[in-house]
Amino acid sequence: MTCKSVYSEDGRLVMFVCGKGVKDHPCETVGCSNEHKKLCDFPLGGKKTGQTCDKKMCNKHANRFNVDDLPEEIRVRVQKHDTFDLCDAHLRHVTRLLSKK
Ligand SMILES: [Zn+2]
Ligand SMILES: [Zn+2]
Repeated sequence: MTCKSVYSEDGRLVMFVCGKGVKDHPCETVGCSNEHKKLCDFPLGGKKTGQTCDKKMCNKHANRFNVDDLPEEIRVRVQKHDTFDLCDAHLRHVTRLLSKK
């Protein structure tokens, strides 16, 4: 049986999802077992500055985001500007930051 780990918004491991049909490198969205095509590009801060979230996402669960629309504090940490995809948790995080403005 294959298992995949699921992480919370702040990077803590919250649970494992196990079962048939979970591929070796599936999308990490809960309940999805599509093969991942993209990694979350959210630039992490604090000790992990310089790294990205890298959550695995299939095409359906990747959220394409325009780097220019990011809040300033996040945009300054983004290293690649061509394609920028967010996982659901980070899309919510960014949306929340934007709505505070
Ligand atoms: Zn998916
Ligand atoms: Zn992410």
